[in-house]
Amino acid sequence: MAKALTNVTIYDFVRFIEKGYVVFDEEIQEVGKMEDFFDKGYEIEDKSGSIIIPGLVCGHTHIYSAFARGWPNETAIENFTDILEQQWWRLDAALEEEAIHLSGIVSASDHVKNGITTIIDHHASGEIEGSLKRLKKAVCDDIGLRGMFCFETSDRFDVEKAIRENKDFLAEEKNGSFAAHFGLHASLSLSEKTLKKVKAALGDAPIHIHAAESALDQEDCEEKYGERVLERLERHGLLNEGSILVHALHINEKEADIIKRNNCLVALNPSSNMNNAVGIPDYKLFKRKGIPVIIGNDGLSMSITNELQTLMYATHVKHEDFNAFGLDDVWAIIKTAYDYASRRLGVKLGRIEEGHKADLLVIPYTPPTPMDEENALGHLFFGLFSSFRPQDVYVGGKGIVKDHEIHTEAKKLYARAKRSAQKIWENTKERGG
Ligand SMILES: [Zn+2]
Repeated sequence: MAKALTNVTIYDFVRFIEKGYVVFDEEIQEVGKMEDFFDKGYEIEDKSGSIIIPGLVCGHTHIYSAFARGWPNETAIENFTDILEQQWWRLDAALEEEAIHLSGIVSASDHVKNGITTIIDHHASGEIEGSLKRLKKAVCDDIGLRGMFCFETSDRFDVEKAIRENKDFLAEEKNGSFAAHFGLHASLSLSEKTLKKVKAALGDAPIHIHAAESALDQEDCEEKYGERVLERLERHGLLNEGSILVHALHINEKEADIIKRNNCLVALNPSSNMNNAVGIPDYKLFKRKGIPVIIGNDGLSMSITNELQTLMYATHVKHEDFNAFGLDDVWAIIKTAYDYASRRLGVKLGRIEEGHKADLLVIPYTPPTPMDEENALGHLFFGLFSSFRPQDVYVGGKGIVKDHEIHTEAKKLYARAKRSAQKIWENTKERGG
């Protein structure tokens, strides 16, 4: 039986209906004003006092960081290389079977509670073979979200195995709930030999790579190869259309042109950049060059609404210009992610319109000021985005979150995470820093 949510405000960043209804099963069947609603025997829920928007897309995260929360790292951190070596590379190396699965459960559960229904992940773990399928099982099958996965190939790992894992997962038959990238860590951790092997295996798959996250990535590249990071990736023929370049913080004009002419995207993660003390992204540069931008959280949080706010405020400060980033930029970023996810997954996402997948967020909201299609995004951004907790979340019409709580199966699995994390922490201690 199709479901109908009634007496609700509907807003998909394009259309605004104040007192409306939406009928859906896996896909949205009908949307309209209450005066046109006709009950054809639907399962009806009155959602007065709520607003419905489409589920959000997180453009870059690390599911493995789920087990970093509260991690007692006792070694001194002086620069970005230390952050990688002393923290992330010790933690991800300790992840195996059960931990990979449970990190997926934790991350997907927390993301969906924050309104994210599609996750683009960048994965690394000590166990390589089959790790992406494990993640996909956790995120897409057990929790019920959509996801894109890849393994961070780098010289830290058995390169052949990492390449094979990406290839195998790219070849998996897709069903609208998941897709794949070819994952690469970053220029500084990839030798010439490795990049040649990647090129030989890549075909037309888009890559997903950290590019110029810190000045160290550029210094390393210029010192070893006498060129900039984007020049190096282009020289190796790796910049396939739809590739995701994460951060692109320390790039110059020429590199921005390289990103543009290869039809790649940039995924920004401003909170992570500030936390790692590597800089603030130059949004104005991407906009001026017409480079599509999406937003992620880099695994630092499990949300993106706060990232959109951070990006706005940080961009204002960086350029000392209130007009350097506005609500039209917020919408451009959200829309770019919807369009990209729709293309990669082969389904229609991002609109509350007939024929689109029913990935929906129901958020209780009583506007304290007039709200209409002109200012609805302002209401969301300033009224809801800083503590964004949808009451109900649907993905493909299935109720994943109800009254802020994840479904029972997910809760049971989530409860096992703490013990698994404890084991990982003990292992990383033994390995030493
Ligand atoms: Zn990252």
